[in-house]
Amino acid sequence: GSLRLNHSYFCQKPPNMNENLLFLICFFILVFQWEEIGEVDENYAPIHTYQVCKVMEQNQNNWLQTNFILNQGAQRVFLELKFTLRDCNSLPGGLGTCKETFNVYYYETNDEERRNIRESQYTKIDTIAADESFTELDLGDRVMKLNTEVRDLCPLSKKGFYLAFQDLGACIALVSVRVFYKKCPFVVRNLALFPDTITGPDSAQLLEVSGTCVNNSVADELPRMYCSAEGEWLVPIGRCMCQAGHEEVNGSCQVCKPGFYRSALQTKSCSKCPPRSFTKVEASTSCQCEQGYYRTESDPSNMACTKAPSAPRNAISNVNETSVFLEWSAPEETGGRKDVRYNIVCSKISTDSGQYEPCGSHVRYLPQRTGLKNTSIMVMDLLAHTNYTFEVEAVNGVSELTAPLRQYVSLNVTTNQAGDISVSWQEPDRPNGIILEYEIKYFEKVNTDQETSYTIIKSKETDVLVDGLKPSSAYIFQIRARTSAGYGGFSRRFEFETSPYLAASSDQGQVPIIAVAVTVAIILIALVTGFLMSGRRCGYSKAKQDPDEEKMHFHNGHIKFPAVRTYIDPHTYEDPNQAVHEFAKEIDVSCITIERVIGAGEFGEVCSGLLRLPGKREIPVAIKTLKAGYTEKQRRDFLGEASIMGQFDHPNIIHLKGVVTKSKPVMIITEYMENGSLDTFLKKNDGQFTVIQLVGMLRGIASGMRYLSEMGYVHRDLAARNILVNSNLVCKVSDFGLSRVLEDDPEAAYTTRGGKIPIRWTAPEAIAYRKFTSASDVWSYGIVMWEVMSYGERPYWQMSNQDVIKAVEENYRLPGPMDCPTALYHLMMDCWQKDRNSRPKFEEIVSILDKLIRNPSSLKVSNLLVEHGSPEGCVFRSVEEWLEAIKMGRYTELFMERGYTSLDVVTQMTLE
Ligand code: AMP
Repeated sequence: GSLRLNHSYFCQKPPNMNENLLFLICFFILVFQWEEIGEVDENYAPIHTYQVCKVMEQNQNNWLQTNFILNQGAQRVFLELKFTLRDCNSLPGGLGTCKETFNVYYYETNDEERRNIRESQYTKIDTIAADESFTELDLGDRVMKLNTEVRDLCPLSKKGFYLAFQDLGACIALVSVRVFYKKCPFVVRNLALFPDTITGPDSAQLLEVSGTCVNNSVADELPRMYCSAEGEWLVPIGRCMCQAGHEEVNGSCQVCKPGFYRSALQTKSCSKCPPRSFTKVEASTSCQCEQGYYRTESDPSNMACTKAPSAPRNAISNVNETSVFLEWSAPEETGGRKDVRYNIVCSKISTDSGQYEPCGSHVRYLPQRTGLKNTSIMVMDLLAHTNYTFEVEAVNGVSELTAPLRQYVSLNVTTNQAGDISVSWQEPDRPNGIILEYEIKYFEKVNTDQETSYTIIKSKETDVLVDGLKPSSAYIFQIRARTSAGYGGFSRRFEFETSPYLAASSDQGQVPIIAVAVTVAIILIALVTGFLMSGRRCGYSKAKQDPDEEKMHFHNGHIKFPAVRTYIDPHTYEDPNQAVHEFAKEIDVSCITIERVIGAGEFGEVCSGLLRLPGKREIPVAIKTLKAGYTEKQRRDFLGEASIMGQFDHPNIIHLKGVVTKSKPVMIITEYMENGSLDTFLKKNDGQFTVIQLVGMLRGIASGMRYLSEMGYVHRDLAARNILVNSNLVCKVSDFGLSRVLEDDPEAAYTTRGGKIPIRWTAPEAIAYRKFTSASDVWSYGIVMWEVMSYGERPYWQMSNQDVIKAVEENYRLPGPMDCPTALYHLMMDCWQKDRNSRPKFEEIVSILDKLIRNPSSLKVSNLLVEHGSPEGCVFRSVEEWLEAIKMGRYTELFMERGYTSLDVVTQMTLE
């Protein structure tokens, strides 16, 4: 052979390079008996080919060997060959020696310099034959019948390998060799970076890859994804969250600008500083309060900064002997908070010093002295005939943080023991001049509020003591003020009651003192200016309801008479034997011939055999047996399945022929399903069926399930392994458990709530709180669809049950199986709607599948004309109609402009 270094690259990167394919450099360094030929392709572009065509000579052994190809860590490398091969029949005379194949080998090594590899050291990858060989005639037409073959090398464990091509006497032109591996390309998902990941050595392998949170983000648990053998990322779980002071913008975490902040990890983006706060720096996690404004430790960061309240307003006192009732209004300024409270500070004038001093601990406060929520208090056990000052102080959550500036209103009060009514009031807020004096008008309230006669007294002060009143009587008071402009209007009327008589103390002699005193403070509202409180009464009349309206509520549901009988739970029978005999026919054991064991059930072997009932022809049957040594419960559960199955009569439900209970072993006889369970059957026949055949199977299962749901039976364990297939590819639902439901299913796993559930097939609500319904059966049906369309692939591959639960919760759904028509994938996705009421009913599923079967063009793999989310495969009449249906009507004009004027053109649209 000749050694050619510096050779132009024979293997080239293809122009339409896929981002998850990585090409390895290779060229031939050893050429033995092959010829390198420069040619042109159909476009007259120069191409190199390696050719050999020694078909007339005996004992050919011609080799081509590549350079050392570094595998760059890939454990599975693909080899794509393009070549042409001459048809031996078209070669005159060469028939005896001519071959139509060649061999491809590889030699794996860590030694880059190794060149002389012996033939015996190579490992054969495959013998390559052409799908199409060419003849002399083709040559004349210059038709190149180019063959493409792809093989993979795995598992690779060394640094690299050499490839070699061996020709044993064929007429070949090798046009290109591409060597590549697949990777899941670097991606940022849910704020986590997932590195370039070379796919695993196994074609069904999923590599679990942990992401790293992007700068300035964190996660409790690192997000994960799976890298499939095809170089696709699947099943994202978890997410990173931007740190405080940052927000998510297009997959990265960016700092909050000055004036914005982000504290809690719950809020998504930076927020503007709340009122009365600011931040001048970037990446703030909170905002600082403006001067004079504060935030308590427990205030949330999105709350405005606040300040202390102003003083309470309109305080009044009402002295009743040695008790004082104080009442006030909330402060005008609450400081922006809702936690305003009031404290009372009581002081009195000391009889000794004439100075104010604290009231002392004997005074009682109702309900309490400090932290009052209400705007009133009763102060009791004061000393008689004593001057007191009460300060009503308003405080809120930030009062302690402010300067020691107390905000209060004070009231001077003189206690008494008996007698008169003393009235006090506050100056009006906005008098229209200096108040010269007040006029107090009062009269006794007798039966009506109407005054018959009244008394007027005048005062320059804001209080007055009125004496000479009747005890236990009500009096009405009104006050007005006078300025140089004259009198204002009277205040509203206040009503006070005098106390009853009190017994005189002995030192008052014989004269009984009839004295009642009530001190009353009044707030003068409309005193001087005489303004009128006028307020238009807002008319509020409740719109009258049409009396008939309510009656018009009628039941809108449509009444559906059950088309089939309702399923009866055998549990409702006290005697389970009675249930069996009600629903299952007893068969005499002499009618049965057991032939061979076909499977293992929970209770014993499953056999195939024959059943010949008197006067009927012999039919093949499956015989389930109950193994010896069973307990009474096992017998009950075993026959329970027959009690359930016996109630069903449908072509897609496994049919019960009868039971043998009078002799041992106890048996359940059902129709025989030649092809066994659906999952095994599909795996065995991978890729062998047409889409219509697969949809036909799914239609059958859906029809069986429609029947069960109409009967009110919830299956709970619908999965391909529990579907049986007969020789006509008819699928029938089987495996009807009773209390043993799921106990015998190896897929069933214990959930946190204790039940055993086949996680991968079960709807989230059934896993979470055992809500098993026909809608949860629909979810399982969606999984069965996926199993069928992927020829028995395991749902969610080798992910753990916990990961499946988590992924589904996070709204991950299985991706469409390879070559699965879009319409079918849409239907699966509909079955996996989180809200169980949004899932289709079996009735609808059957009708959708029927439509698809009737209209096979709707089962194209990428059928753009199937409305997204509605898998009915509707056929549209125009591009506009279709765009409208998928809520993209706004693009109609654009479609028209670009020439997509008919649906035919649209169907030919590529992803690009
Ligand atoms: P089962 O206990 O119903 O899950 O049955 C165990 C196995 O026996 C199934 O997986 C089938 O392979 C087989 N089998 C059960 N019933 C039938 C039947 N009617 N026809 C054919 N095979 C059956």
